[in-house]
Amino acid sequence: MAEKPTSILMLSLGGTIAMTSGRDAGVVPTLTAEQLIAAVPGLADTGIDVHVHTFRQLPGASLEFDDLTALAALIADRTTTGGIDGVVVTQGTDTIEETAYLLDLLHTGDAPVVVTGAMRNPTIAGADGPANVLAAIRTAGSPTARGLGTLVVLADEIHAAGQVRKTHSTSGGTFRSPNTGPLGHVVEGTVRLLARPLHRMTVPMETATRVPRVGLYTVTLGDDGLLLTGAHGLDGLVVAGLGVGHVPRHLVEKLAALATRIPVVLASRTGAGPVLASTYGFPGSESDLQRRGLVGAGFLDPYKARILLWTLLAADAGPDSIAAAFAAAGGTGDPTRWPWPTPSQQPEMQHA
Ligand code: ASP
Repeated sequence: MAEKPTSILMLSLGGTIAMTSGRDAGVVPTLTAEQLIAAVPGLADTGIDVHVHTFRQLPGASLEFDDLTALAALIADRTTTGGIDGVVVTQGTDTIEETAYLLDLLHTGDAPVVVTGAMRNPTIAGADGPANVLAAIRTAGSPTARGLGTLVVLADEIHAAGQVRKTHSTSGGTFRSPNTGPLGHVVEGTVRLLARPLHRMTVPMETATRVPRVGLYTVTLGDDGLLLTGAHGLDGLVVAGLGVGHVPRHLVEKLAALATRIPVVLASRTGAGPVLASTYGFPGSESDLQRRGLVGAGFLDPYKARILLWTLLAADAGPDSIAAAFAAAGGTGDPTRWPWPTPSQQPEMQHA
Protein backbone atom coordinates (compact mmCIF):
# COMPACT_ATOMS: atom_id res chain seq x y z
CA MET A 1 0.00 0.00 0.00
CA ALA A 2 1.30 3.46 -0.91
CA GLU A 3 2.55 5.56 2.01
CA LYS A 4 0.25 8.43 3.04
CA PRO A 5 1.72 11.75 1.82
CA THR A 6 2.67 14.35 4.41
CA SER A 7 -0.33 16.61 5.08
CA ILE A 8 0.09 20.26 5.92
CA LEU A 9 -2.60 22.71 6.98
CA MET A 10 -1.97 26.31 5.91
CA LEU A 11 -3.92 28.93 7.85
CA SER A 12 -3.88 32.49 6.51
CA LEU A 13 -4.46 35.46 8.80
CA GLY A 14 -3.80 38.38 6.40
CA GLY A 15 -0.74 40.64 6.45
CA THR A 16 1.39 42.07 3.64
CA ILE A 17 1.71 38.59 2.13
CA ALA A 18 -2.05 38.71 1.38
CA MET A 19 -2.34 42.38 0.45
CA THR A 20 -3.40 43.88 -2.87
CA SER A 21 -4.44 47.41 -3.90
CA GLY A 22 -7.61 48.57 -2.20
CA ARG A 23 -10.19 51.18 -3.16
CA ASP A 24 -8.15 53.99 -1.61
CA ALA A 25 -4.38 54.46 -1.53
CA GLY A 26 -2.28 51.58 -0.24
CA VAL A 27 -2.58 47.81 -0.03
CA VAL A 28 -5.01 45.94 2.22
CA PRO A 29 -5.42 42.24 3.09
CA THR A 30 -7.65 40.62 0.45
CA LEU A 31 -6.07 37.35 -0.69
CA THR A 32 -7.44 34.05 0.58
CA ALA A 33 -5.35 31.04 1.57
CA GLU A 34 -6.34 29.41 -1.76
CA GLN A 35 -4.97 32.41 -3.68
CA LEU A 36 -1.76 32.46 -1.63
CA ILE A 37 -1.06 28.80 -2.28
CA ALA A 38 -1.90 29.13 -5.99
CA ALA A 39 0.95 31.68 -6.31
CA VAL A 40 3.62 29.28 -5.01
CA PRO A 41 5.75 27.74 -7.78
CA GLY A 42 7.19 24.26 -7.28
CA LEU A 43 4.67 23.12 -4.70
CA ALA A 44 3.85 19.91 -6.56
CA ASP A 45 7.55 18.92 -6.47
CA THR A 46 7.45 18.76 -2.67
CA GLY A 47 5.01 15.83 -2.69
CA ILE A 48 3.30 17.48 0.29
CA ASP A 49 -0.47 17.55 0.47
CA VAL A 50 -1.49 21.11 1.43
CA HIS A 51 -4.91 21.92 2.93
CA VAL A 52 -5.83 25.58 3.27
CA HIS A 53 -8.09 27.68 5.44
CA THR A 54 -8.60 31.46 5.40
CA PHE A 55 -8.74 32.05 9.15
CA ARG A 56 -8.61 35.88 9.29
CA GLN A 57 -7.94 38.72 6.81
CA LEU A 58 -6.33 41.31 9.05
CA PRO A 59 -3.14 43.36 9.19
CA GLY A 60 -0.74 42.02 11.83
CA ALA A 61 -1.41 45.10 13.95
CA SER A 62 -5.11 44.22 14.37
CA LEU A 63 -4.73 40.59 15.46
CA GLU A 64 -5.99 40.05 19.00
CA PHE A 65 -5.32 37.50 21.74
CA ASP A 66 -8.73 35.95 21.02
CA ASP A 67 -7.73 35.33 17.39
CA LEU A 68 -4.55 33.60 18.53
CA THR A 69 -6.11 31.42 21.20
CA ALA A 70 -8.78 30.31 18.70
CA LEU A 71 -5.98 29.57 16.21
CA ALA A 72 -4.04 27.57 18.82
CA ALA A 73 -7.19 25.52 19.59
CA LEU A 74 -7.72 24.78 15.89
CA ILE A 75 -4.07 23.75 15.49
CA ALA A 76 -4.34 21.42 18.50
CA ASP A 77 -7.49 19.85 17.12
CA ARG A 78 -6.23 19.32 13.56
CA THR A 79 -2.81 18.01 14.61
CA THR A 80 -4.15 15.56 17.19
CA THR A 81 -7.22 14.12 15.48
CA GLY A 82 -7.32 15.71 12.02
CA GLY A 83 -4.50 13.80 10.32
CA ILE A 84 -2.40 16.93 9.90
CA ASP A 85 1.41 16.48 10.20
CA GLY A 86 2.40 20.14 10.29
CA VAL A 87 0.93 23.64 10.19
CA VAL A 88 1.87 26.82 8.34
CA VAL A 89 0.49 30.15 9.53
CA THR A 90 0.74 33.15 7.19
CA GLN A 91 0.27 36.57 8.74
CA GLY A 92 1.52 40.16 9.00
CA THR A 93 5.16 40.37 9.96
CA ASP A 94 4.51 43.31 12.30
CA THR A 95 3.43 41.02 15.14
CA ILE A 96 5.06 37.67 14.25
CA GLU A 97 7.58 37.90 17.11
CA GLU A 98 4.65 38.04 19.55
CA THR A 99 2.10 35.71 17.90
CA ALA A 100 4.65 32.96 17.21
CA TYR A 101 5.78 32.93 20.85
CA LEU A 102 2.17 32.76 22.07
CA LEU A 103 1.50 29.83 19.70
CA ASP A 104 4.71 28.20 20.93
CA LEU A 105 3.63 28.48 24.58
CA LEU A 106 0.22 26.95 23.76
CA HIS A 107 1.39 24.18 21.40
CA THR A 108 2.15 20.97 23.26
CA GLY A 109 2.28 18.60 20.30
CA ASP A 110 5.15 17.41 18.10
CA ALA A 111 3.77 18.66 14.78
CA PRO A 112 5.81 21.66 13.57
CA VAL A 113 3.94 24.97 13.55
CA VAL A 114 5.67 27.38 11.17
CA VAL A 115 4.79 31.06 11.00
CA THR A 116 5.70 33.10 7.94
CA GLY A 117 4.77 36.28 6.07
CA ALA A 118 6.25 38.68 3.57
CA MET A 119 8.00 42.02 3.60
CA ARG A 120 7.14 42.84 -0.04
CA ASN A 121 3.49 42.66 -1.04
CA PRO A 122 2.31 40.68 -4.10
CA THR A 123 1.82 43.83 -6.24
CA ILE A 124 5.51 44.79 -6.30
CA ALA A 125 8.62 43.36 -7.95
CA GLY A 126 10.45 40.78 -5.89
CA ALA A 127 7.52 39.87 -3.66
CA ASP A 128 8.88 37.37 -1.14
CA GLY A 129 5.59 35.72 -0.11
CA PRO A 130 5.66 32.68 -2.42
CA ALA A 131 9.27 31.77 -1.51
CA ASN A 132 8.52 32.15 2.19
CA VAL A 133 5.38 29.99 1.95
CA LEU A 134 7.30 27.28 0.10
CA ALA A 135 10.12 27.27 2.68
CA ALA A 136 7.55 27.22 5.50
CA ILE A 137 5.70 24.27 3.93
CA ARG A 138 8.93 22.34 3.50
CA THR A 139 9.82 23.04 7.14
CA ALA A 140 6.37 22.11 8.46
CA GLY A 141 6.53 18.86 6.48
CA SER A 142 10.04 17.95 7.55
CA PRO A 143 10.58 15.17 10.13
CA THR A 144 13.64 17.19 11.24
CA ALA A 145 11.39 19.96 12.54
CA ARG A 146 9.14 17.70 14.63
CA GLY A 147 9.16 18.40 18.35
CA LEU A 148 10.72 21.86 17.97
CA GLY A 149 7.50 23.72 18.82
CA THR A 150 6.69 26.85 16.83
CA LEU A 151 9.19 28.16 14.29
CA VAL A 152 9.41 31.33 12.22
CA VAL A 153 10.65 30.86 8.64
CA LEU A 154 11.42 33.79 6.34
CA ALA A 155 14.21 34.33 3.81
CA ASP A 156 15.05 30.61 4.10
CA GLU A 157 16.06 31.04 7.75
CA ILE A 158 14.50 28.96 10.52
CA HIS A 159 14.13 30.73 13.87
CA ALA A 160 12.83 29.58 17.25
CA ALA A 161 9.63 31.44 18.17
CA GLY A 162 11.03 32.26 21.61
CA GLN A 163 14.10 34.00 20.17
CA VAL A 164 13.11 35.72 16.95
CA ARG A 165 12.65 39.47 16.55
CA LYS A 166 11.70 41.83 13.73
CA THR A 167 14.78 44.04 13.59
CA HIS A 168 14.22 46.25 10.52
CA SER A 169 11.05 47.94 9.28
CA THR A 170 11.53 47.14 5.56
CA SER A 171 14.42 44.73 4.97
CA GLY A 172 13.67 41.22 3.69
CA GLY A 173 16.26 39.94 6.16
CA THR A 174 14.50 41.59 9.10
CA PHE A 175 14.00 38.46 11.23
CA ARG A 176 16.92 37.79 13.56
CA SER A 177 17.48 35.87 16.77
CA PRO A 178 19.96 38.22 18.48
CA ASN A 179 20.80 35.96 21.43
CA THR A 180 21.21 32.67 19.56
CA GLY A 181 21.14 33.07 15.78
CA PRO A 182 18.84 30.96 13.61
CA LEU A 183 18.21 27.28 14.34
CA GLY A 184 18.90 26.46 10.72
CA HIS A 185 18.22 27.14 7.06
CA VAL A 186 16.19 25.76 4.19
CA VAL A 187 18.91 24.78 1.70
CA GLU A 188 17.98 23.60 -1.78
CA GLY A 189 14.54 22.76 -0.42
CA THR A 190 15.81 20.74 2.54
CA VAL A 191 15.68 21.69 6.22
CA ARG A 192 19.22 21.92 7.62
CA LEU A 193 19.29 22.37 11.40
CA LEU A 194 22.37 23.81 13.09
CA ALA A 195 20.93 23.94 16.62
CA ARG A 196 17.88 22.95 18.64
CA PRO A 197 16.11 24.85 21.42
CA LEU A 198 17.40 23.66 24.79
CA HIS A 199 13.94 23.20 26.30
CA ARG A 200 10.27 23.41 25.37
CA MET A 201 8.11 25.24 27.86
CA THR A 202 4.36 25.12 27.28
CA VAL A 203 1.18 26.01 29.13
CA PRO A 204 -1.75 23.55 28.78
CA MET A 205 -4.34 25.42 26.75
CA GLU A 206 -7.26 24.28 28.87
CA THR A 207 -5.75 26.15 31.86
CA ALA A 208 -5.62 29.47 29.97
CA THR A 209 -9.16 30.65 30.65
CA ARG A 210 -8.71 34.26 31.82
CA VAL A 211 -8.24 37.26 29.51
CA PRO A 212 -5.77 39.50 31.36
CA ARG A 213 -4.63 43.00 30.42
CA VAL A 214 -0.86 43.20 30.38
CA GLY A 215 0.94 46.45 29.57
CA LEU A 216 4.44 47.29 28.37
CA TYR A 217 6.18 50.41 29.65
CA THR A 218 9.42 51.58 28.06
CA VAL A 219 11.63 53.63 30.37
CA THR A 220 13.40 56.68 28.89
CA LEU A 221 15.91 59.36 29.88
CA GLY A 222 14.48 61.83 32.40
CA ASP A 223 11.28 59.76 32.74
CA ASP A 224 9.07 61.04 35.59
CA GLY A 225 6.64 58.12 35.44
CA LEU A 226 3.55 60.14 34.45
CA LEU A 227 2.41 57.41 32.04
CA LEU A 228 2.60 54.83 34.84
CA THR A 229 -0.60 56.25 36.30
CA GLY A 230 -2.34 54.41 33.44
CA ALA A 231 -1.06 51.09 34.80
CA HIS A 232 -3.75 50.92 37.48
CA GLY A 233 -6.26 49.02 35.36
CA LEU A 234 -3.75 46.35 34.39
CA ASP A 235 -3.41 42.76 35.59
CA GLY A 236 0.33 42.75 34.89
CA LEU A 237 3.08 45.04 33.59
CA VAL A 238 6.38 44.57 31.78
CA VAL A 239 8.94 47.33 32.24
CA ALA A 240 11.48 47.67 29.41
CA GLY A 241 14.33 49.07 31.47
CA LEU A 242 17.60 50.68 30.48
CA GLY A 243 20.68 48.51 29.96
CA VAL A 244 20.74 45.50 32.29
CA GLY A 245 17.44 46.57 33.92
CA HIS A 246 17.69 50.11 35.28
CA VAL A 247 15.16 52.91 35.76
CA PRO A 248 15.49 56.57 36.90
CA ARG A 249 15.36 56.84 40.71
CA HIS A 250 12.04 58.78 40.54
CA LEU A 251 10.30 55.64 39.26
CA VAL A 252 11.39 53.29 42.01
CA GLU A 253 8.60 53.95 44.54
CA LYS A 254 5.91 53.90 41.83
CA LEU A 255 7.09 50.55 40.45
CA ALA A 256 7.56 49.05 43.91
CA ALA A 257 3.98 50.08 44.84
CA LEU A 258 2.63 48.55 41.63
CA ALA A 259 4.53 45.32 42.32
CA THR A 260 2.65 44.90 45.59
CA ARG A 261 -0.61 44.71 43.57
CA ILE A 262 0.21 43.10 40.22
CA PRO A 263 3.17 41.17 38.78
CA VAL A 264 5.73 43.62 37.36
CA VAL A 265 8.40 42.07 35.13
CA LEU A 266 11.72 43.79 34.43
CA ALA A 267 13.20 43.34 30.93
CA SER A 268 15.89 45.19 28.99
CA ARG A 269 15.01 47.60 26.20
CA THR A 270 18.41 47.04 24.51
CA GLY A 271 17.29 44.26 22.15
CA ALA A 272 19.63 41.49 23.29
CA GLY A 273 21.29 40.12 26.40
CA PRO A 274 19.89 39.44 29.87
CA VAL A 275 18.60 41.54 32.71
CA LEU A 276 21.13 41.14 35.54
CA ALA A 277 20.34 40.45 39.20
CA SER A 278 23.17 41.54 41.48
CA THR A 279 25.74 43.77 39.77
CA TYR A 280 24.55 47.36 40.42
CA GLY A 281 23.31 48.65 43.78
CA PHE A 282 22.00 52.22 43.20
CA PRO A 283 18.30 53.17 43.62
CA GLY A 284 16.60 52.06 40.40
CA SER A 285 19.26 49.44 39.68
CA GLU A 286 18.35 45.89 38.66
CA SER A 287 19.15 44.53 42.13
CA ASP A 288 17.17 47.30 43.87
CA LEU A 289 14.10 46.70 41.67
CA GLN A 290 14.14 42.92 42.07
CA ARG A 291 14.57 43.30 45.85
CA ARG A 292 11.40 45.43 45.73
CA GLY A 293 9.40 42.68 44.04
CA LEU A 294 9.97 43.09 40.29
CA VAL A 295 10.57 39.80 38.45
CA GLY A 296 13.61 39.61 36.15
CA ALA A 297 12.90 38.53 32.53
CA GLY A 298 16.39 37.10 31.95
CA PHE A 299 17.08 36.93 28.21
CA LEU A 300 13.43 37.47 27.21
CA ASP A 301 12.99 40.79 25.41
CA PRO A 302 10.10 43.03 26.52
CA TYR A 303 7.69 41.80 23.82
CA LYS A 304 8.30 38.12 24.59
CA ALA A 305 8.13 38.86 28.32
CA ARG A 306 4.71 40.45 27.84
CA ILE A 307 3.44 37.41 25.93
CA LEU A 308 4.74 35.07 28.64
CA LEU A 309 3.18 37.15 31.43
CA TRP A 310 -0.13 37.28 29.52
CA THR A 311 -0.14 33.49 29.16
CA LEU A 312 0.77 32.91 32.81
CA LEU A 313 -1.98 35.24 34.01
CA ALA A 314 -4.45 33.65 31.57
CA ALA A 315 -3.63 30.34 33.27
CA ASP A 316 -4.14 31.96 36.69
CA ALA A 317 -0.51 31.46 37.75
CA GLY A 318 0.37 32.90 41.18
CA PRO A 319 3.51 34.84 42.15
CA ASP A 320 5.68 31.75 42.79
CA SER A 321 4.77 30.16 39.47
CA ILE A 322 5.36 33.46 37.66
CA ALA A 323 8.81 33.83 39.20
CA ALA A 324 9.71 30.20 38.42
CA ALA A 325 8.42 30.50 34.85
CA PHE A 326 10.43 33.64 34.12
CA ALA A 327 13.59 32.12 35.61
CA ALA A 328 13.12 29.04 33.42
CA ALA A 329 12.02 30.73 30.16
CA GLY A 330 14.39 33.66 30.65
CA GLY A 331 17.34 31.26 30.66
CA THR A 332 18.75 32.50 33.96
CA GLY A 333 17.20 29.95 36.34
CA ASP A 334 16.38 26.30 36.72
CA PRO A 335 14.47 25.05 33.62
CA THR A 336 13.07 22.13 35.61
CA ARG A 337 11.09 24.62 37.72
CA TRP A 338 8.83 25.47 34.76
CA PRO A 339 5.38 25.05 36.37
CA TRP A 340 3.92 22.59 33.82
CA PRO A 341 5.15 19.29 32.35
CA THR A 342 7.37 19.70 29.29
CA PRO A 343 5.87 18.05 26.16
CA SER A 344 8.89 16.25 24.81
CA GLN A 345 12.47 16.30 25.94
CA GLN A 346 14.74 17.88 23.38
CA PRO A 347 18.34 16.80 22.96
CA GLU A 348 20.85 19.35 24.31
CA MET A 349 21.84 22.19 21.95
CA GLN A 350 23.66 20.58 19.06
CA HIS A 351 25.93 22.22 16.57
CA ALA A 352 26.47 20.57 13.21
N1 ASP B 1 4.23 45.16 7.25
C1 ASP B 1 3.35 44.15 7.68
C2 ASP B 1 3.65 42.81 7.05
O1 ASP B 1 4.79 42.61 6.72
C3 ASP B 1 1.94 44.49 7.69
C4 ASP B 1 1.25 43.57 8.65
O2 ASP B 1 1.85 43.14 9.65
O3 ASP B 1 0.10 43.26 8.40
O4 ASP B 1 2.84 41.96 6.87
